[in-house]
Amino acid sequence: MSDPKNAETFAFQAEIAQLMSLIINTFYSNKEIFVRELISNASDALDKIRYQSLTDPSVLEGEKDLEIKIIPNKDDNTLTFYDTGVGMTKADLVNNLGTIAKSGTKSFMEALSAGADISMIGQFGVGFYSAYLVADKVEVHSKNNDDEQYIWTSSAGGSFTIHQDEDAEDVPRGTKIILYLREDMTEYLEEKKLKDIIKKHSQFIGYPIKLQVEKEREKEVSDDEAEPEEKEDDEETPKIEDVDEEKEKEKKKKKIKEKYNELEELNKTKPIWTRNPDDITEEEYGSFYKSLTNDWENHLAVKHFSVEGQLEFRALIFAPKRAPFDMFENRKMKNNIKLYVRRVFIMENCEELMPEYLNFIKGVVDSEDLPLNISREMLQQSKILKVIRKNLVKKCLELMQEIYEDKDNYKKFYEQFGKNLKLGIHEDSTNRKKIADLLLYYSSHSGDEMTSLKDYVSRMKENQKDIYYITGENKETVKNSAFVERVKKHGYEVLYMTEPIDEYCVQQLKEYDGKNLVSVTKEGVELPEDEEAKKKFEEDKATYDALCKVMKDILDNKVEKVCVSQRLVTSPCCIVTSQYGWTANMERIMKAQALRDNSSLGYMAAKKHLELNPDHSIIQELKKKADVNKNDKSVKDLVMLLFETSLLASGFSLEDPTTHSSRIHRMIELGLGIEDDGTGEEEVIDDLPPLEGDDAEASKMEEVD
Ligand code: ADP
Repeated sequence: MSDPKNAETFAFQAEIAQLMSLIINTFYSNKEIFVRELISNASDALDKIRYQSLTDPSVLEGEKDLEIKIIPNKDDNTLTFYDTGVGMTKADLVNNLGTIAKSGTKSFMEALSAGADISMIGQFGVGFYSAYLVADKVEVHSKNNDDEQYIWTSSAGGSFTIHQDEDAEDVPRGTKIILYLREDMTEYLEEKKLKDIIKKHSQFIGYPIKLQVEKEREKEVSDDEAEPEEKEDDEETPKIEDVDEEKEKEKKKKKIKEKYNELEELNKTKPIWTRNPDDITEEEYGSFYKSLTNDWENHLAVKHFSVEGQLEFRALIFAPKRAPFDMFENRKMKNNIKLYVRRVFIMENCEELMPEYLNFIKGVVDSEDLPLNISREMLQQSKILKVIRKNLVKKCLELMQEIYEDKDNYKKFYEQFGKNLKLGIHEDSTNRKKIADLLLYYSSHSGDEMTSLKDYVSRMKENQKDIYYITGENKETVKNSAFVERVKKHGYEVLYMTEPIDEYCVQQLKEYDGKNLVSVTKEGVELPEDEEAKKKFEEDKATYDALCKVMKDILDNKVEKVCVSQRLVTSPCCIVTSQYGWTANMERIMKAQALRDNSSLGYMAAKKHLELNPDHSIIQELKKKADVNKNDKSVKDLVMLLFETSLLASGFSLEDPTTHSSRIHRMIELGLGIEDDGTGEEEVIDDLPPLEGDDAEASKMEEVD
């Protein structure tokens, strides 16, 4: 029992305190999940000590058995979870159970208020606190090899205490968690209830889970002994009896029932991956998956396979239904494959086993060839591991290909993990082709569904050589862009790439099925054109040569060049980027990333070309005006306006929105027939100082206008 004399008191970190009161005060019927969470923590702790013992067997000296015991005590109303795992030092207790919040603490509370279920707690890495679903006080007695034995105690309410355990025999190594159950929670002391819960959630835990159960046996006692024997007693106390009395007593002996406690192992099944796949039900895979991953719902797809020959291993890999809440949050994403060697758990998150883009795949690998005492350093060098990895990747791609066959399922999968595939295009050049087969995009043809590249190719027109795409912020903007206009008008399909990662992905992919991927926003997009169109284009170029020069002079270094375009149908002009420059979308992404450091932007920013539509009346009229007098002030103004409007329409942002709006205002005045009052506003407008993104200042200027 705890002895608070020498206890130190700590305050829970604010978010943790909030989480605890949420757990205690919100109504949830599905409370039983605390059993799964505490067993899962125990199993993790056992994994840790087992891993240490591979290189240093002496760590097991204090306690050889690796197991989990669950002890209900109806007299005290306590339920105890006892594992012989790694245990916690005093510092671990302070840090892990209360003072250092993980990102999951807040995320979990947000998820809860958005309607998530409490059973998701394990995914957020705060499973321990689920103990407070059923207990009003929790004691954690823990002993780590590096420290004395300490007891952590808390009845919630914002604080916990820690003190050294006087009873050094209490826990030789590991952790004993004692839950003082709430009065209405005593059902969790019932054998049947506990067995059911453990079978449901924890049957695939890799260590024996032993439940202390009360048994009855018959015992022969003499009449006068019969009464006191009623009391519960674990041990039979042998009586030394007088030989003379023996005979006489024998006559009086009778049988009574005696209660005693016994540990019953609940999970005797052998590891699921060692079994024959034909004998395993979907349900069994599901519950194994859940106990492996803490996921609250079943997997989406599974692959169970073995590799034999030069090297031998078995593996079980799962695709989950949902991406974890923090998949792309941590810069270093750890993978989710547990490594076993001949049924012995070695380590989790073994980086060498999976490339980063497949970090969402969960599973186990059990090798026959690796040495048991392998260290992380050795793993990095291991050829065996490289071969395993290659096979795993191959199987993952097969698994995804299988999901792909079922259109609806794949759609859901792609929503969650499409980004990973695109990352895969970037990372995994060997399998690029296979991954490309799994990509989906919206397109000018696909409507509400997405299309694969393969389907795109099957729809390509006879004279079409390239695959056209556009990158941009979202489906709506790219759909309505002037670039898509002409390509679509000629009957070609354009893929809409609207995720930031698409820019990187398409740069790596370059081609599919022998066809180049061509951005419709870059210069030099050539549609297969007929002779007549080519001739007209040459003529247009000659006709508008002078106007292009005038415009380039006005726009100066804002653009690299001004030229006549073939790509426009309804817009007067557009901005395209040179073949090797950034697209507008890339510029947007880079601006968002390089929040503070803008110095590189000017240098790297998109090299812009202004392309004119020779068939558009605005361009035709502008030409006339410029032919008359190229220094006409209104020509200058109109060119600037056209340029700025094109920037916006092509997905760029304006460097100086104030000047732009001033020009627009003047156009509006003209439209409304408001005379220039001779205040010299014209000059003011053209000479407005650049405001360089000072928004406050900009809006003030607007008010003045
Ligand atoms: P998670 O287990 O997902 O990290 P928890 O809130 O369940 O989150 O536990 C917090 C931490 O407390 C664990 O990461 C672990 O370091 C420690 N811990 C919990 N239970 C045990 C245990 N039985 N033995 C050793 N350490 C434990």
